[in-house]
Amino acid sequence: MMPLTVWDVVVVGLGPAGVSASIQLKREGFSVVAVEAEKIGGALNDASVIENLPVCGGAVQATEIVKKLETSIEAHRVGVVQDKIYKIQKKKEFFLVKGHQMVLRTKCVVIASGLVPKKYPDLAGGKNIFYRARDVGDVSGLTLAIIGGGDAAFDGALRFAESAEKVYVIVRERPKAIPQLVKRARENKKIQIFENTRIGKVSHKRRVEIQFDSGLTIRGDKLLVCVGKERDLTLIPPDLKRKLEGKKLIPQELCRGMYAAGDFLNPEARYISTAMGSGIQAALLATGYIRGE
Ligand SMILES: Cc1cc2nc3c(=O)[nH]c(=O)nc-3n(C[C@H](O)[C@H](O)[C@H](O)COP(=O)(O)OP(=O)(O)OC[C@H]3O[C@@H](n4cnc5c(N)ncnc54)[C@H](O)[C@@H]3O)c2cc1C
Repeated sequence: MMPLTVWDVVVVGLGPAGVSASIQLKREGFSVVAVEAEKIGGALNDASVIENLPVCGGAVQATEIVKKLETSIEAHRVGVVQDKIYKIQKKKEFFLVKGHQMVLRTKCVVIASGLVPKKYPDLAGGKNIFYRARDVGDVSGLTLAIIGGGDAAFDGALRFAESAEKVYVIVRERPKAIPQLVKRARENKKIQIFENTRIGKVSHKRRVEIQFDSGLTIRGDKLLVCVGKERDLTLIPPDLKRKLEGKKLIPQELCRGMYAAGDFLNPEARYISTAMGSGIQAALLATGYIRGE
């Protein structure tokens, strides 16, 4: 019988953190498999313009950065598997990484699975309710309502205002997005910002209807909800999961041989550069572990 392959490292997620970790590990000469459930680039697939990456020399479309990440993965010959990992089990000498299509054995795991959108109470995603900009689709000539006051809400408002007829941004208190984005949104005639609002009820049938406690009701064709993000710990082994639950700060070494990177590690510092830096750092820790240093 053929012995089963034990990989040096499995990287879960191919956003900026997972891509950086995978490349660094390949350069160290390890056998690496990167597993991506959806699309290389991760959360960047929801972003429009990126202005804070100095190596880009100015503002660039997020799609351009996604292309560069794809090219880098190819150039470094990182093996990519399209699958969603649902469980990681720690065995005596290796980890079992279980996806819906395959099971991988590996000495080491890097978890770079990012964050998942927080749900608005009693509001499941559906026909015209979305939690990620990439899922909203075409809004030409439509009215889009956005709930949220952070960067994702304002980035979405500016992006969709290019084609939508009207964009409403509904903010519970004051906008928390970076001032540049808020200023641009305020100057955009298609965008109307409602601040210090309390939403009473959201109903959605053919159209979306949002009733404020003040009595005002606004209607739209689609609703994008951007009320924050959180870690999805379902794939983490149960004993470890119990230790991490409810914590903002977690150690990068989750246990010997398992390392966290990117937004999953730093949910309070959700930036491409921090994701990439912690991806490299996770790769260095994995390298030391595999080499017994
Ligand atoms: C609208 C928006 C605008 C932004 N603008 C900026 C900006 O201007 N500047 C900036 O620096 N940052 C910006 N960001 C943040 C930046 O995109 C993130 O910080 C960065 O993408 C995080 O990288 P990551 O690799 O940690 O996670 P992600 O990019 O979230 O990647 C995680 C990947 O893991 C995959 N995955 C998850 N679970 C599994 C699983 N179980 N199995 C397999 N794969 C899995 C996901 O499909 C995803 O592709 C923005 C984000 C958004 C949403």
